[in-house]
Amino acid sequence: LLRVENLRKAYGDKVVLRDVSLDVEPHDVVCLIGASGSGKSTLLRCLNLLETVDDGGIWFEDEEITDPRVDARQVRARMGMVFQAYNLFPHMTVLDNLTLAPRRVHGTPRAEAEARARELLGRFGLADKADEHPDRLSGGQQQRAALARALATDPSLVLLDEVTSALDPELVGEVLDILRDLATGGTTMVLATHEMAFAREVASQVCFLHDGAILERGTPTDVLGAPTNDRTRQFLRRVL
Ligand code: ATP
Ligand code: MG
Repeated sequence: LLRVENLRKAYGDKVVLRDVSLDVEPHDVVCLIGASGSGKSTLLRCLNLLETVDDGGIWFEDEEITDPRVDARQVRARMGMVFQAYNLFPHMTVLDNLTLAPRRVHGTPRAEAEARARELLGRFGLADKADEHPDRLSGGQQQRAALARALATDPSLVLLDEVTSALDPELVGEVLDILRDLATGGTTMVLATHEMAFAREVASQVCFLHDGAILERGTPTDVLGAPTNDRTRQFLRRVL
């Protein structure tokens, strides 16, 4: 579904991604772990072309999306992305947040987009919030709505950047529950996360980033349970 080959990205003379390669198969849940500044967000932003890359390539659904002729909006329309916080458009109702991209980008008729949106909101426990504005929702509800919005266009890949780290501790669980359900349901995801217990439980693949490079990758059992790289061990000692 997604193949990343020898990606390199620098800001000025600071290299933030070096020789990053990654393969994502349908239904994979890939967890990116690593210290602050290791390059997780930058990698996610490269994947949906919010950043240009300096070297290497990205193939998504058999198309080289790093080809400069590719329309980035077209690519993003096939990926869902959720950030840490402030995802929703504040001046629109939750329902309008969910139907905007299907209607505007994909040309889905309003009734169909709304039906799909309401179904997602129901699934995420937000059925009664459709007509509210985001500021009337709790942080956890807002993130669940943001996830619902990312899924409203039926993307084949969902990118998630620390979607729980801005939440109060008691709200983290409800968002992780949703992610767990999505993983079980076969949604393909690449996510940067500090939630090691979650990664251990749902990841099909864990990648440890250090200073812009993937130093270790494998199943959660291997990478989190029996890391072979010293840097991975040091990192896990600090966070586990
Ligand atoms: P965190 O866990 O704190 O979110 P991260 O792993 O997501 O960290 P990135 O945000 O990808 O790390 O940052 C990687 C490196 O790139 C950092 O050293 C950061 O300072 C640098 N960086 C990120 N964005 C820019 C930018 N727009 N200009 C210059 N440097 C940047
Ligand atoms: Mg980040």
